[in-house]
This record gives sequence, structure tokens and C-alpha cells, in this order.
Amino acid sequence: MLRIGLTGGIGSGKTTVADHFSRLGITVIDADEIVRHVSSPGHHPFDAIIHHFGNEILNTDGTINRQNLGQRVFNNAAERQVLEAILHPAVRSVMQKAVQQAPPSPYCILVIPLLVETGYVDLVDRVIVVTADRKNRIDWVKKRDGLTDDQIESIMAAQASDNERRKIADDVIENNGTLDSLFRQVEKLDLKYREI
Ligand code: ATP
Repeated sequence: MLRIGLTGGIGSGKTTVADHFSRLGITVIDADEIVRHVSSPGHHPFDAIIHHFGNEILNTDGTINRQNLGQRVFNNAAERQVLEAILHPAVRSVMQKAVQQAPPSPYCILVIPLLVETGYVDLVDRVIVVTADRKNRIDWVKKRDGLTDDQIESIMAAQASDNERRKIADDVIENNGTLDSLFRQVEKLDLKYREI
């Protein structure tokens, strides 16, 4: 099955785009969901994360407090590398299995927010990059998550730039208009991929 990677910076519209592909009957596999799955109790990465970062990153119900863990690695490259080395092999293998076991679909979409940063490019055949102006992204994320400008800017600074993402793009979705115009772009790509 043809595998299309979907990526873009924080608040660019990846989920909105993926949801529309899903409405068009396309299988969507979400890397963030897989990360949550493999870092939940009962999976090997969960044990490895607790072994390295300690019980203090746990919620009272025994699950990982993602915000806490995020803070531990956000400004610490060495700790981030440890976490990535624990997670990536598991995420990779679950993602590959998810594609193999996906219900019949003309093609599938793999939403991988950090596609450039993690080097998962070899898992997909083509790449869509969703881009939106900085100001729009900040406005949308502020409204969605209640974060401050500074918090959003620092997340943007830690991610790849749109220029870096464009270098690996086969198709670019420009999300600076209405949701309707975004959906029309998705529908156009859907027709193209069905032909491929
Ligand atoms: P993240 O990387 O943070 O998960 P994302 O790339 O998945 O974000 P979305 O969640 O799809 O982005 O979009 C961010 C927010 O912006 C959502 O609340 C969404 O409804 C809104 N949004 C996206 N595109 C538009 C648009 N063209 N017009 C208005 N609102 C939009």
C-alpha cells in the first residue's frame, strides 16, 4: 500500500488535514498515538523510561505524566536523546505493523509530526508538508491549548523549520485560508494519490 507521510510544525493543521483524509475513507495512522501506546504500562519502552527518568515522572494512577516528561527533555538534548533512543525502535516497528495490518484503503496517511527531526522518512513513499503562517499558527494554538506566545515560540524553535520540511516535501498544503479551502486541497491530493 502506498504510504504518504504527513508532517508540519505545531498548529499548522496536520490533524485537521488527517481528519479530512479519514472522512474520504483513507486509513490514517498517527505516530503520536503510537508513542502514547508504547509508553503506556505493560510495554517495554514504559519500563525503560521509568528506569531512566525515575518514578517522579509518574501520575498517581501509574501512567507517565507526559507534561512532566516533556519538561525534563525539552531543554536537555542529552535526556531527549535517551528518550528518543528508547521510543524510536518501538514506534518504528508498531508503525510498520499498523501499515501491514491496516484495513483495505487506496493508500494510507502516516501523520508524523517530527518526520524531519526523527528521520522516519524511509517509512513513507511520499511526503505532504502542511504549512501556515507563523501568526496563524500562534493564534490557533493559543485558542486550542491556551499556551502563551512564548511557550508556542519555544516549541517552534525546537522543531525543524518550514524550509527544512519543504526540502523533503513531494506535496505542500498551504493552510492560510479558510477550512473549506484547506479541505479542497486535501480532496485534490486524494484524487492524485488514488491515481498513483
Ligand atoms: P499540533 O502539531 O499542535 O498537533 P496540528 O498541526 O495537528 O497541531 P491542528 O490541530 O489541525 O494542527 O490545527 C490547530 C488548530 O488550528 C485547531 O484548533 C484547528 O481547528 C485550527 N485550524 C487549522 N487550520 C485552520 C484554518 N484554516 N482556519 C481556522 N482554524 C484552523
